[in-house]
Amino acid sequence: MQKEYDVIIIGAGPIGLACAIEAKRKNLKYLVIEKGALVNSLYNYPLYMTFFSTSERLEIGDVPFTSISFKPGRQDALEYYRRIQQHFDLNIHLYEAVNSIELKDKLKFIKTNQSEYYSKNIIIATGFYDIPIYLNIPGENLPKVSHYYKEAHPYAGQKVVVVGANNSSVDAALECWRKGADVTMVIRKGEIHERVKYWVKPDVENRISEGSIKAYFHSNLKEIKEKSVTISTSDGEIEIENDFVLALTGYRPNFEFLESCGINLSKNGRFIPKYNPETMESNVKGIYLAGVVCGGMETHKWFIENSRVHAKMILEDIFAKSI
Ligand SMILES: Cc1cc2nc3c(=O)[nH]c(=O)nc-3n(C[C@H](O)[C@H](O)[C@H](O)COP(=O)(O)OP(=O)(O)OC[C@H]3O[C@@H](n4cnc5c(N)ncnc54)[C@H](O)[C@@H]3O)c2cc1C
Repeated sequence: MQKEYDVIIIGAGPIGLACAIEAKRKNLKYLVIEKGALVNSLYNYPLYMTFFSTSERLEIGDVPFTSISFKPGRQDALEYYRRIQQHFDLNIHLYEAVNSIELKDKLKFIKTNQSEYYSKNIIIATGFYDIPIYLNIPGENLPKVSHYYKEAHPYAGQKVVVVGANNSSVDAALECWRKGADVTMVIRKGEIHERVKYWVKPDVENRISEGSIKAYFHSNLKEIKEKSVTISTSDGEIEIENDFVLALTGYRPNFEFLESCGINLSKNGRFIPKYNPETMESNVKGIYLAGVVCGGMETHKWFIENSRVHAKMILEDIFAKSI
């Protein structure tokens, strides 16, 4: 049986779901293919994270998002997006990964790890949270090293190095310290990042200046061993005892996948995919980009807040071209 659609949406993150709602509203034949759970990136966020956005800014499909606290947490968001899926009864295949897209005449041919599909249009809403930016240093593949942070409990009473000075690193360092870990931050630049949430930045700066959390500025992690790490500091190399490393140095979109679809990436080291900002159509006709994947390495540029509008822009363009 040939499975042919008007639009296939890759990724069931908040923005992929927003696209699905608009496709359904326009009576298009659509399918969402998601390699993990519903809103898989949010599912993998730190257990007790709080969004910097207020709940109404995370809403999609014009459905109100209510939460007790004005800034919702991960659990609130999972609840909301689950209800969105149930309310709209969206057509989603979970736990199915898209491996490739080929152009076949006017159609796109999509191969997943389970099946094959044809579609007139594709929306790539694959986010950036699946691929960490690696340190590429010896010992990075040891089991004590993680590029994702879930919760502080495993680190209680342990010597933990946190690499990075952005929101993820700062939240992890503070939480781990508060649950009894001995925390050392290794920070490439001379200060905590300016984009750290304004209500958290003074907290970490004060913990560092009082010596509760140790921090090496202008420093890089050089090597990780079973029981120690080597840090290259402005005063030379030092080796300190260590049980765990949280290398929270950011994530990036799957550029190899985008290029394999024929999408051009900017050559300035930012790898920003080429798209028309009015329609979100990429340089490949009928392949659209939605959500945070649009930012390339500039992963701080797009959020749920400002990219949920992509859904209406894209589906209006697809619908206009279909009539
Ligand atoms: C810790 C943290 C806190 C944040 N807080 C906020 C906030 O307060 N406000 C805000 O607006 N934004 C926030 N963001 C950013 C926001 O959560 C993300 O930008 C959001 O998840 C983006 O939605 P998306 O749908 O574009 O991508 P994602 O949510 O990442 O969804 C992409 C989906 O595509 C799937 N996928 C990837 N590749 C494939 C494939 N080959 N086949 C099938 N499926 C695939 C993934 O599994 C994933 O489910 C935060 C991000 C982080 C990391």
